[in-house]
Amino acid sequence: MHHKTCPLCESDQIFLHLSCTDHFLSKEVFNLNRCGDCGFVFTQDYPDENEAGRYYESEDYISHSDTSKGLSNKLYRIVRSLMLQRKSALVRNVTGLKKGTLLDIGTGTGHFAAAMKKAGWQVNGIEINEKARVHSSTRFGLEIISPEQISTLASDSFDCITLWHVLEHFHDPLNYTSEIMRLLKPGGLCLIALPNCNSYDAEYYGKYWAAYDVPRHLWHFSTLSFGLFMKKTGGVAGDIRTLPLDVFYISILSERYKGTKLPFMTGILKGMYFSLLTVINRKRSSSIIYLMRKPTTFPHSS
Ligand SMILES: [Zn+2]
Repeated sequence: MHHKTCPLCESDQIFLHLSCTDHFLSKEVFNLNRCGDCGFVFTQDYPDENEAGRYYESEDYISHSDTSKGLSNKLYRIVRSLMLQRKSALVRNVTGLKKGTLLDIGTGTGHFAAAMKKAGWQVNGIEINEKARVHSSTRFGLEIISPEQISTLASDSFDCITLWHVLEHFHDPLNYTSEIMRLLKPGGLCLIALPNCNSYDAEYYGKYWAAYDVPRHLWHFSTLSFGLFMKKTGGVAGDIRTLPLDVFYISILSERYKGTKLPFMTGILKGMYFSLLTVINRKRSSSIIYLMRKPTTFPHSS
């Protein structure tokens, strides 16, 4: 897919920003472009939807996520549990609801959706990976649909919709966000977690920054460009929140991509430094959760 103009503001003033390697899987190089007018950064010349599948063919992450053997798996489970608690507390906190209706888009192995269901929420999920859908259903009894079935969900039916690090993968994020606006109840809230390409760690690591993750990540938002994006969807931008553990994960991976000798220790230390910096400026955190509310006056779609 080649963009001749900026996908966000349609300016033809687009320039080469960085050349990044797909360290995770294919080792192929992809260019990032930057818009001279609005500053939006996006992956250029990426595989179309039919070709994209092979850039996701990695080892089975489902079996990995459920084993407790070995130190790194134990650590992974502890971190996941901390993240789950933070995410569910955040949903209750920002919606002001103890229970409600929730749609989790990009459900993955289903742990967040299951935690919310356990807490009494009525939960629906959407996931592209069939194995992951089956896992969520057999292990947690969740009903997960595939992305093209989103149109079967009823309008104005969700108090909250969550997207934890998924929108940056979507080929048509604007249309998808229009669907989200249709599905939210008037006044309902959407939480969108995204890597922040204007973060301190992104600036420091440059082309090695792990959250560029080409060609799986197509859009590289900052608070500024995501503000423009939300305006286009008709949503009302709320406050931002952060996920404080993301910077450590991204720093360790980025150190590994750079070929550092002790990537784990170095990543932890630098992650601590970046975390301190973001105490002063949250807008430069490694990742950001954007809150987007559907206005009560939103034009009815059905
Ligand atoms: Zn632009």
